Amino acid sequence: METKIVKAFGTEAVNVPLHSMKIKRRELLPHDAEMEILYCGICHSDLHQIRNEFGGATFPIVPGHEIVGKVTKVSEHVKKFKVGDLAAIGCIIDSCGKCENCKDDLEQFCDEGVTFSFNSPDKYLGGATYGGFSETYIADEKYVLHVPETLDLASAAPLLCAGITVYSPLKHWQASPGKMVGILGIGGLGHVAIKIAKAMGAHVVVFTTSPSKVEDAKRLGADEAVLSTDAEQLKKYTRKMHFIVDTVSAKHDVNTYLNLLRHDGSVVLVGLPPEPLEVRAFSVVTGRRSFSGSNIGGIAETQEMLDFCGEHHITADVEVIPIQQVNEAFKRLLKGDVRYRFVIAMASLKI
Ligand code: NAP
Ligand code: ZN
Repeated sequence: METKIVKAFGTEAVNVPLHSMKIKRRELLPHDAEMEILYCGICHSDLHQIRNEFGGATFPIVPGHEIVGKVTKVSEHVKKFKVGDLAAIGCIIDSCGKCENCKDDLEQFCDEGVTFSFNSPDKYLGGATYGGFSETYIADEKYVLHVPETLDLASAAPLLCAGITVYSPLKHWQASPGKMVGILGIGGLGHVAIKIAKAMGAHVVVFTTSPSKVEDAKRLGADEAVLSTDAEQLKKYTRKMHFIVDTVSAKHDVNTYLNLLRHDGSVVLVGLPPEPLEVRAFSVVTGRRSFSGSNIGGIAETQEMLDFCGEHHITADVEVIPIQQVNEAFKRLLKGDVRYRFVIAMASLKI
């Protein structure tokens, strides 16, 4: 297959700092669109992967799956885009399109294995897919999304993963007026979840381990914010919450939050702590509660989320950095020292 060499930032092994490298992109297939990447968010999943915290990572890794930019080339069969359009790519760039899950617009659960935008087997070039810390991305237009013109492009980038990952469960578990919805952890995902849950009309209660985020949660739109290290404060919410979206990236005690649910409530895990979490029997049998999970969202739902955010003027609070600061950014993300998402201005890759 014809390929083209482009600039990227990646790493060959755990503990090797990300650095400039050259990668191959395929030449356009008949349904492909090419985009120049303008901004790419940094998600905690990028960090889990470069540290190989789940095992099985394929190096070299070029991270990045919150990708926005402009269309630079389209193939003959492309209908959704023309050159110059704003475009975005999130976590998914291919799926079988035929299984029950794909037919139900749940490509993320594709029976034949979804292709993620980075560190996923590349059907065409072999090896693993390379993500958005690069000059360009090429994908079938089916997996390329429209970005509402009303949104600031840099702060819209995190919607492509953080946004859809919280939108999907908030919609599925029906965040709406009259519902007490909890958001656990205010990082990249959590702070966007506050904004989306509020726009859906829910009463939003935030649980954070960071005292400095208690006030900030209200600025972000939360109705109430609770310091989760204070057992007395937590007690007030016992049996009050309809559901809680858990975005925590590290091991934590989910029983504490299961006990805050009303009957039939759920703690919905979207965070990916590498270690197993323990659920006590009485946390779920009492009140017929459940501990559940959710993984990103399908392509149609990702477009729906972008349109929803366009309508409600929702974007992430971002710190825009040049790619040369990416290793420092990963260190700060690990410490929770970001309010609330790093986004790389990809023009810096040209320097
Ligand atoms: P992030 O920006 O680092 O935010 C994580 C937040 O979790 C932190 O800000 C902190 O919030 C809280 N936290 C961290 N360590 C904690 C600990 N030991 N105990 C309690 N709370 C802790 O990360 P992110 O980008 O939002 O991602 C969050 C998680 O979701 C990651 O594991 C990521 O891989 C995963 N993820 C999953 C999906 C999916 O589809 N399922 C998609 C994207 C990301 P406070 O300071 O408020 O306590
Ligand atoms: Zn992500």
